[in-house]
Amino acid sequence: MSERHFDIAVVGGGMVGAALALGAAREGFRVALLERREPPLQWPADSHDLRVSALTRVSQLILQNLDVWPAMVRRGVTAYEQMHVWEARGLGEIHFDAADIGEPDLGHIVENRVIVAGLWEAISRTPNVEVILGREVADLKSGNENGLSLADGTDLRAELLVGADGARSRLRELAEIGLTARDYDQHALVATVRAEHGNQSTAWQRFMPKGPLALLPLQDDLFSIVWSTEPVEAAELRDLEPAQFDDRLTLASERRCGRLSLLGDRALFPLRLQHANAYVRPGLALVGDAAHVIHPLAGQGVNLGLLDAGVLVDTLVQAREHHEPLGALGVLRRYERARKGHNLATQMAMDAFKHLFCNQNPALHLLRNLGLGMADRIPPLRRQFERVALGQGIELPSLARIPSDC
Ligand SMILES: Cc1cc2nc3c(=O)[nH]c(=O)nc-3n(C[C@H](O)[C@H](O)[C@H](O)COP(=O)(O)OP(=O)(O)OC[C@H]3O[C@@H](n4cnc5c(N)ncnc54)[C@H](O)[C@@H]3O)c2cc1C
Repeated sequence: MSERHFDIAVVGGGMVGAALALGAAREGFRVALLERREPPLQWPADSHDLRVSALTRVSQLILQNLDVWPAMVRRGVTAYEQMHVWEARGLGEIHFDAADIGEPDLGHIVENRVIVAGLWEAISRTPNVEVILGREVADLKSGNENGLSLADGTDLRAELLVGADGARSRLRELAEIGLTARDYDQHALVATVRAEHGNQSTAWQRFMPKGPLALLPLQDDLFSIVWSTEPVEAAELRDLEPAQFDDRLTLASERRCGRLSLLGDRALFPLRLQHANAYVRPGLALVGDAAHVIHPLAGQGVNLGLLDAGVLVDTLVQAREHHEPLGALGVLRRYERARKGHNLATQMAMDAFKHLFCNQNPALHLLRNLGLGMADRIPPLRRQFERVALGQGIELPSLARIPSDC
């Protein structure tokens, strides 16, 4: 069977893999993008994607620099200007406001299908990306050039293979890269709901002993909810009659936005902390959820993945400038060093938050109340949190530079 050659072969065309393929192709690399399923580019106007992402300003900049943001805006993105976080049993509350830091908003809530469609549309206009659909990776080959054998017998060679194939990465498994992983013993229930009092351009998060409930504003008076709780309760909530579910959800939200009413389906996602023991092998790199999976309570997963993609593109451009092979371990370690510390620190912070808030210990309860109250009353501390929501305060890749027309 035929064998094709590329500079980079990316396995997985989700948000992170598609962003990487596009970013690398725009730098002149010849890219193969392998994806199991072709994502939809359009859908019925009244349908909702249960999967949404809270995108930081930095992710917005990356998507703007990839010329994807306008297509996303056409399909629908929702800016949120405020964020309100509070503790279920107590007085601890903290309120973030974009106006405090002179920003128009704290970020955007976007359906995942909108992000993926924008990226895939841009890829279809980019000549040096070849999309290979629906063909499973059967094996990895290493040598002078790295190769992938696909299940239909096709062989494909590339200087660098990238695993962007999500939490259950086949490429990571074939490369025998181990994982440090732990179940959170929580499932996230996701759904779209309508709020009686509208969404007030505010993201809401209430910490309850069994897990946080997040209400992420979508257009008009809609919210996407992410309700993390014990698996048994999550299954019970999924199976409740819609009216009963609305009662439970409205109560859990303390009626901050009036009565909440379910629109359409509910889905559950088991939550797990996961980190690849290495991000790179000679000729291979992992990005996004293939490398790290974090608790969704601060909505950081895809934001970290887009940074991985941006930093990997920079690393490869520098390697080319210095005439180094793209798959050289020394080159790839530069990518790993630039991203692993930040990803781990974010993962650990979310882990600590999860343990601090999902705990009945009275001392921790007091600490939470004091902590939230103090952070709310000390403006510099609050502003620091606001900068984290925007994705600021770290070294950024070229793809996150501020466009000259802004
Ligand atoms: C409930 C919930 C809420 C979340 N909310 C947020 C949020 O608000 N903000 C945020 O930043 N993050 C959030 N996240 C995390 C975010 O969804 C993930 O970090 C993100 O989807 C990772 O993107 P990815 O492209 O790395 O992987 P994925 O989205 O998993 O994409 C992997 C792609 O690879 C393809 N694929 C897999 N295997 C193969 C194969 N063998 N061959 C070819 N293709 C393959 C898949 O079809 C898919 O398209 C949330 C997660 C959950 C569970």
